[in-house]
Amino acid sequence: MPKRSDGADAHTDDAPTVARRRGRTGAAHAAPARPARASRLPDCGGAYVLAIALPAALRMTISRRADRGAAVLSAGRYLYCGSARGPGGLRARIARHLRRRKILRWHVDRLTTRGRVIAVWAIPDGDECALVASLAGLPVPLPGFGSSDCRGCASHLLAWPDGADLPLGPPTLRLV
Ligand SMILES: [Zn+2]
Repeated sequence: MPKRSDGADAHTDDAPTVARRRGRTGAAHAAPARPARASRLPDCGGAYVLAIALPAALRMTISRRADRGAAVLSAGRYLYCGSARGPGGLRARIARHLRRRKILRWHVDRLTTRGRVIAVWAIPDGDECALVASLAGLPVPLPGFGSSDCRGCASHLLAWPDGADLPLGPPTLRLV
């Protein structure tokens, strides 16, 4: 079953908006992005996992949810599995995720602008759904997140509770 090559999960609930560098808490979101770190990443296609620390609860609307209602992601750590098949491959896609200022296009953009990417695993030629499967057992905080085009996964976002070991090896980028 072909998937959309850009891994897009159309966020139909909001018109695109430009994220402000500073969020409601000001200084907590003032740290500059570090796009230079992404230059170490391969420019081939593949899959990746972002570890994201969310400092405060975030209200999300996922259109696939049966109730079409808003849900809240609690403050904490999350893992997002995605894929990059377009120009620039993993390097370009992950550099975008690390930027704080961007057009909000995907569900995960809400997390990367309100929270902070703390680690990245890049897997050349990898598959995002296989990554989700490898992380089975971690809690699914919000069904449908990032998996609008995916029939097999409940969500491409998983919670990462303190103390939970990951079967991913050392991260490709560690940002804390
Ligand atoms: Zn999937």
